[in-house]
Amino acid sequence: MPIIITYRRTQRLSMRIAKNGDVRVSAPIGYPQAKIEQFVMQHREWIEKAREVTSQRQNKRKAFYARLPLDTRQQFKDAVQRTNALVMPMIEKYEKLMGVRHTGIHYSNTTSKWGSCAKATGKLYFSIYLLLLPEWCVEHVVVHELAHLIEPNHSPRFHQIVERYFPRWREARAETKRIAAGFAN
Ligand SMILES: [Zn+2]
Repeated sequence: MPIIITYRRTQRLSMRIAKNGDVRVSAPIGYPQAKIEQFVMQHREWIEKAREVTSQRQNKRKAFYARLPLDTRQQFKDAVQRTNALVMPMIEKYEKLMGVRHTGIHYSNTTSKWGSCAKATGKLYFSIYLLLLPEWCVEHVVVHELAHLIEPNHSPRFHQIVERYFPRWREARAETKRIAAGFAN
């Protein structure tokens, strides 16, 4: 069980479990290592339970993404095409409504985000794993990224824009999180 200690300008010890199961301890600068080891030993039971929960959560997440097999070049190409066919009509619809225009779209197999937008260049980026979401959740991602063509930050103004064109954005965001965590079928 790897234990990684980071010394910080903090007053107290704290501990968390990383996604890969590592135990990450934050300790005040100069804190004796023996005391840190003692602290970890005292919380052994908590650590084991937390690692188990983390690993189950990661397995569910992995199982979700595995529903879109991307083992071959052809599978990847097909997924890109299908994603494009899915999002293009949505982009066209909302660009008209919102009065914005993108300059290009990139697709990737990233699992860290559903989409992103570079306001300066007008380029949109979408994950091909959008194929695993219900359409209304995909639509929410599209509206979110197009809204970034108007407002780059997640400011109150940004949320006003999204709210105007996609009033169910909060619900869609929650549902997307729930699905990607592997809690829906
Ligand atoms: Zn955003």
